[in-house]
Amino acid sequence: MSRIRVLVSGAYGRMGRFVMNAVHDARDMELVGAVDPAGVGHAVSEILDIDTELQISGHLAGSLDEIRPDVMVDFTVPDVVMDNIEAALTRKVACVVGTTGFSPTDIQVVQNMCHRTGTAAVVAPNFSIGANLMMRFAKEAARSFDYAEIIERHHEKKVDSPSGTAVRTAELMAQAREEAFEQVPTEVDKAPGSRGGTVESIQVHATRMPGYVADQEVVFGGPGERLVISHVSISRECFMPGVLLAVRKVRSLEGLVHGLEHVL
Ligand code: NAD
Repeated sequence: MSRIRVLVSGAYGRMGRFVMNAVHDARDMELVGAVDPAGVGHAVSEILDIDTELQISGHLAGSLDEIRPDVMVDFTVPDVVMDNIEAALTRKVACVVGTTGFSPTDIQVVQNMCHRTGTAAVVAPNFSIGANLMMRFAKEAARSFDYAEIIERHHEKKVDSPSGTAVRTAELMAQAREEAFEQVPTEVDKAPGSRGGTVESIQVHATRMPGYVADQEVVFGGPGERLVISHVSISRECFMPGVLLAVRKVRSLEGLVHGLEHVL
C-alpha cells in the first residue's frame, strides 16, 4: 500500500515540529513538504533529529503545486489558516487543521469550500484523545447540572483566548441542554472581566503563563455537590495520535468534519 504523502504547514512552529516528527515516524506516511515563512531555507534535519533532505519553503501554493501531497496538516495562526485551507482544497489536497480561532462563519466557509471542491477536511480545536473524552463527559454532565464554568490554562505564547477547546466544550455542553445554564452576575464588580467571558451562557476563564501546555477544567455545581472534569496536557506529544488518525482517515470522509470526536 502506498504511503500517505503529507505536507506540514506551520512547520517551523512548536506544533509543526511535533507533527513533522510524528509523520516521519509513522510507517504508513511520508513527510513530503514543510512550509513556514518563518523558517524559510532551514533544512528540516537542522531543527529535528530526523533523516530527511527536506527544506522549509515559504510559499504554500507553490509547494502544493510542486509536491502534490495527499494531505496538508496545518498548525499555523488564525490570520492565515483560511487562506491555507483554500489553497489546499482548491488543489484537491485534503486538510487536517489544528489551528484554533475559527468562528462559526469560518466553519461554514470551510464546509462550503469542501463541498465545492469535493475534498474533505478535519478541523479540530483539540487533537488530544484525553481532551476529547473530557469534552464528551462534559457534554454528558451538562444535562444534569444547571451551573457550569470552564477554566482553561495555557502557555504564555498562545495568541487566542479563550482556547478553541474551551469554546468547543461550551458549544457541546449547550447542545446537550434545552435551557441556558444559570447566570450568576455579581452585584459588585470590582475588576471588570473577573467573572470571565461568556460562551454559550457559560463563563470561561483563561489563564496564560509559562508552566502550562494546555489544561482545562469543566466545573459543574449542584446542591451540595460539585463535579470537576479535568484534563492536563504535559507535552504536545499528546496531540499526535489524534493528528495521525485524522491524516489516515480524512480522505475517506466527506465534506468538513469539525471535531476529533467524529473521527474517533
Ligand atoms: P507557533 O506560533 O509555534 O507556530 C505557528 C507557526 O505558523 C509559526 O512558525 C509561523 O511562522 C507559522 N506561519 C505563520 N503564517 C504562516 C503561513 N502563511 N503559512 C505557513 N506557516 C505560517 O504556534 P503553535 O503553538 O505551534 O500553535 C499553532 C496553532 O495550533 C495555534 O492556533 C494553536 O492554538 C493551535 N493548537 C492546536 C492544537 C490542537 O490540538 N488542535 C494543539 C496545540 C495548538
